[in-house]
Amino acid sequence: MPRPAIELFRKTFGTIPRSAASAPGRVNLIGEHTDYNGGPVLPIAIAERTTSVVGPGPADASGILETVSTRYPTVTRVRWQEELPTGWSAYVAGVLRELWTFGAIPPGGSVRIAVASEVPVGAGLSSSAALSVSAAKAIATFAGATLTPRQIAGVAYRAEHDHVGVRCGVMDQTIASLAKRDRALLLECASLAVQHIPFRARLMLVDTGVKHDLSAGSLNERRAECEAAVKRLKFELPELMWLASWPVHWLPRLKRALPEPLRSRAVHVVGETARTRFAAELLARGKMKQFGQLLYESHESCRRLYACSAPELDTVVAAAKRAGALGARLTGAGWGGAAIVLVRERGRGTGERVAKAIRSAFRKAYGREPDIRPVKSSAGVRTERV
Ligand code: ADP
Ligand code: MG
Repeated sequence: MPRPAIELFRKTFGTIPRSAASAPGRVNLIGEHTDYNGGPVLPIAIAERTTSVVGPGPADASGILETVSTRYPTVTRVRWQEELPTGWSAYVAGVLRELWTFGAIPPGGSVRIAVASEVPVGAGLSSSAALSVSAAKAIATFAGATLTPRQIAGVAYRAEHDHVGVRCGVMDQTIASLAKRDRALLLECASLAVQHIPFRARLMLVDTGVKHDLSAGSLNERRAECEAAVKRLKFELPELMWLASWPVHWLPRLKRALPEPLRSRAVHVVGETARTRFAAELLARGKMKQFGQLLYESHESCRRLYACSAPELDTVVAAAKRAGALGARLTGAGWGGAAIVLVRERGRGTGERVAKAIRSAFRKAYGREPDIRPVKSSAGVRTERV
């Protein structure tokens, strides 16, 4: 697994790396845009991983970060304490700044890092957290520090949120760190309580090929709307901290209190919060048909209320439903990217039949076919041999 990253390191820097770590991408089964609203999410880690390998920086310099990635082969060199680089190296610089607060960087603070990834960028599979979590683990290991998976997640989260400036929630970094194989992770984002729930269903991932770039703006706009909604709802419920904490049986009151588009955004978040907790219960009890139904409902709410779908995603979900899939929805924030489809083991709605139907509907609408692949679950961050 770490081969391509090690080779890239040697080719680029002419030396041998000293530590390596990998972290997975993820798909979120349900709980869309609930994370930064203090609600629950239910992701699984996927088999595709990002590997970071790390070694000492240039001999005579201190505080230098040099980066290279198979995706971006030009070497970037920055003084990470003084400037935040533009582009992807900012994630690594952010990780270094956060590790520094733990005393978990090597003496002198210079590092070189090479990155190789199987996680597609901008497809909603959280390539950014796979990068920042694997980088955090590899750098901490190189520094001889032992951080818990929770601490690694925290470092990666603050790197992305506070330094790069993507107003993401804690889900991506948490699942990339804490995931277990064949388990979904119910994560309550306000309390950070977690529960591992057995997940062995057949799931497909349909990548529409429509790229989203979350540092571009739509996500930050939704976050601002949610904050504005909480501000207004505090007149109704002064102790309200998170939008997701609004009581679901008070929806009529919420609707009266908010103008559009805040109303629609808030109804999505409160509804999705209830749906996600119920979905986790159904999953734990093996009620896959009802679980799948909630996936369809979640997609509809994303499309209509949160306005974060895309026509290509709607085409995939509608085709899956017509072909008898148990459930389908956009995943990973939306505005493009991927959808998940829950399929049956036999009869109508098996993977093969549903995939065929999706391909054909997509081709008819857009003149090309989406990438469809089975999702295999995997475990969270781990060190690799160098
Ligand atoms: P995603 O849903 O894939 O996380 P984001 O927009 O949050 O989408 O993050 C994508 C960004 O993460 C890329 O633009 C790049 O800056 C960084 N990134 C992800 N994977 C890699 C990689 N293998 N090498 C370099 N940068 C990466
Ligand atoms: Mg991301």
